Amino acid sequence: MKTLGEFELIERYFKRPARRAALGVGDDCALLAPAPGMQLAVSCDMLVEGRHFLSTVDPVLLGHKALAVNLSDLAACGAKPLAFTLALALPRAEAKWLEPFARGLLALADEHGCELIGGDTTQGPLNICITVFGELPTGQALLRSGATAGDDLYVSGNVGDARLALEVFRGTVSVPGALFELARARMEQPTPRVALGLALRGLATAAIDISDGLLGDLGHILKQSGVGASVDTEAVVSRVAARAASAAVEPLAGMTVAPAQWLAWALAGGDDYELLFTAPRAQRAAVLAASKASQTPVTRIGRIEAEPGLRLLDGQGQSVPNRYTSFDHFG
Ligand code: ADP
Ligand code: MG
Repeated sequence: MKTLGEFELIERYFKRPARRAALGVGDDCALLAPAPGMQLAVSCDMLVEGRHFLSTVDPVLLGHKALAVNLSDLAACGAKPLAFTLALALPRAEAKWLEPFARGLLALADEHGCELIGGDTTQGPLNICITVFGELPTGQALLRSGATAGDDLYVSGNVGDARLALEVFRGTVSVPGALFELARARMEQPTPRVALGLALRGLATAAIDISDGLLGDLGHILKQSGVGASVDTEAVVSRVAARAASAAVEPLAGMTVAPAQWLAWALAGGDDYELLFTAPRAQRAAVLAASKASQTPVTRIGRIEAEPGLRLLDGQGQSVPNRYTSFDHFG
């Protein structure tokens, strides 16, 4: 089996001509300037084998996901992706892993016009750390701290899919093949909601991307905004039901997921990379337009309230006990 040297590896898989950056891979630093009137948005996310992904995952998908989770943070700020760096520890420098990894990574990068401008490469347990840089007009970043009593609460796309796939892998449930494939694609190849994030600039009062579970991440908005919220679990359930129906190209026979279980994964499953955001009631039509323009479904699932804390309601507005806990890496 042929292994590569460090510099040969960088040259072959990660060095590409700089486009938007003034200087890319190959020197001691890359050079990147935001356009006049713009701020740089910077975020960093690390993926560790055994913790964030299984050793058996297809490297193409891993390359995609490593960048996708970072682009999701830019989306949550309303930033347009510009560039990223890649710090990579890997046990062996093998073409059969590096080629597909770089392919998956750079395909998503090209899709978003986000160029790889540098990084670091070392031998070690497989660990992928990406830092992304995006830009947005000064002062227009979507923050966690801007939610106001009276605002509507929305979530994009579908939540709970990734957790469903994980549980199928763990063997705790079984679902029809078509539904599993759909959920698995959402776990292994999440779609960062960049276009929606851009469309929500100047419209959303607060936003966060859901990585650790909807309710847990909502808790960050509530805390940083100094407000509370009511969440309509029925609205979340209806999205989940729509998901099951849309995937039911074969009968739902063999399905061992109880609706309550599914709701729990939707509210606290994690790994969703959807956007959770708030916007004034008066902006409902504008939110709908942003959803259309970005071709990203959004569902209104609740309301921001002055009273601190989180209240879960059923379809009749009756209180539902909250037994959901979000993901914590040290929990
Ligand atoms: P230094 O010794 O200055 O840290 P390195 O020898 O680590 O530089 O890297 C050489 C060049 O290759 C630098 O421009 C660095 O940013 C880039 N580089 C290293 N690893 C990667 C990687 N995994 N992806 C992209 N660029 C990389
Ligand atoms: Mg280095």
